[in-house]
Amino acid sequence: MDMLKDKIKEEGIVLSDSVLKVDSFLNHQVDPQLMVEIGKEFSKRFADKGITKILTIESSGIAPSVLTGLQLGVPVVFARKRKSLTLTNDLLTASVHSFTKGETNEISVSNKYVNENDVVLIIDDFLANGQAALGLVDIVQQAQAKIAGIGIVIEKGFQEGGKILRDKGLQVESLAIVSSLENGIVSFATDNNEEVVK
Ligand code: 5GP
Repeated sequence: MDMLKDKIKEEGIVLSDSVLKVDSFLNHQVDPQLMVEIGKEFSKRFADKGITKILTIESSGIAPSVLTGLQLGVPVVFARKRKSLTLTNDLLTASVHSFTKGETNEISVSNKYVNENDVVLIIDDFLANGQAALGLVDIVQQAQAKIAGIGIVIEKGFQEGGKILRDKGLQVESLAIVSSLENGIVSFATDNNEEVVK
């Protein structure tokens, strides 16, 4: 997705060889027009899957998920990272180790909003080691719902998450795949595996 790659090239900040900061359009400030295009692209890639629900994790997965839900005409559920006084009954939970924060959170979703009749598209902002996505997969399986696939805005192809999920037979669609952040430079893997360097 060229618009996304351009935005990463222009505004992404390489914090280390493994962490990319995109606070100006995804993780803090949000670019609504980019989210509209992301929503269109995910809905195109998963168009024929019979999706009934999108599941993401707070907070940065919510914007791309809502715009995808708008395109597909389905509701969006986000897993909570913190215990909520109002989210108490019939919780589906999974343990997720955060790559960026270095802490483990119990994420939770009410079984009122994901159940055995659902075909679920999982969406997240980044894919690194796959822990967040695996936690969401776990929750969908506990709900006995079907998984349509996983939509990722930015996959870091040099970390293991993509391989783990694809090896499970899951369809993972990433809109930008970063192949390296070494020396402060963002390189992308393209469809034919060539690299475009910033
Ligand atoms: P994983 O669970 O796949 O190891 O990591 C994915 C989660 O960690 C995402 O939900 C995202 O919030 C965060 N994350 C992982 N790598 C990065 C990164 O390079 N930049 C940012 N901004 N977030 C990241």
